[in-house]
Amino acid sequence: MKILALILSVVLSLAAAPGARADAWPPASWMAPNKPYRVVGNVYYVGSQGLSSYLITSSEGHVLLDAGMSPEGAKLVEANIVALGFKLSDVKILLNTHAHYDHAGGLAQLKADTGAKLYASSQDKPALEKGRHFGDNENGLTPFPAVKVDRTVGEGQKVKLGETTLVAHLTPGHTIGGTTWTMSVTEKGRPLNVVFFNSISVAGNALVGNKTYPKIVSDYRATFAKLKLMPADVFLPAHEEQGDLLAKRQRVLRGDNNAFIDSTELGRFVAASEAAFNKELARQQGAAK
Ligand code: ZN
Ligand code: ZN
Repeated sequence: MKILALILSVVLSLAAAPGARADAWPPASWMAPNKPYRVVGNVYYVGSQGLSSYLITSSEGHVLLDAGMSPEGAKLVEANIVALGFKLSDVKILLNTHAHYDHAGGLAQLKADTGAKLYASSQDKPALEKGRHFGDNENGLTPFPAVKVDRTVGEGQKVKLGETTLVAHLTPGHTIGGTTWTMSVTEKGRPLNVVFFNSISVAGNALVGNKTYPKIVSDYRATFAKLKLMPADVFLPAHEEQGDLLAKRQRVLRGDNNAFIDSTELGRFVAASEAAFNKELARQQGAAK
């Protein structure tokens, strides 16, 4: 059953490509309101039902990771921040997993409404500032509101605010500058590694003959290898269904305080994603012959 659920989640994450058919796209869950909640430590889920946004609080202001799919999506995130009792003006830093409209389309609105600075990888910066996907993709440019990047971050770079420190890990492939963020929290005296996981699905990317992003395949491979070594007690993906977050939240509400803690989840997800990647690469190679 677990394997089936995993396969299903990978299929769903592949389906979560930018663009795709107009009749079923984007999924209604991406704009469906969701009650915000504390996940672990000072990490809060403030996204919609289907798209994650995470607020990391500190005594000197807050960090917000990902911003919804559009200005309207940003408003859902903002309402959730306020519902938890936090002030929008205390959001000081905006981060992004990757420059796709479903995670970056609300950044410009959030920046305007909070006055926060946007930190992003230098590789994703051009896509964020142009407001469109970079690289050959069967779904095209999938535009979103452009947003200025105030500071670039590189591999291993720390972003500190108050007592909170986040570390940037470049995990390119899905986009050229995709970034997985990590931090440690203490939950009931127990230290936990939290991984804010960037998407690693193929999502319409050209893996063969990608003229604008020629090293895409080796980037994916390096990302899989890097993520397999990453300690992750708490796996927090950019898409809800990749981590069954709604189900975990229900388990917490039923009294299971450890519902979000599973140090095997990242490894299993990466292995399934790598298998899906290899299958899609073989398909594209076959089609190119
Ligand atoms: Zn994406
Ligand atoms: Zn996405």
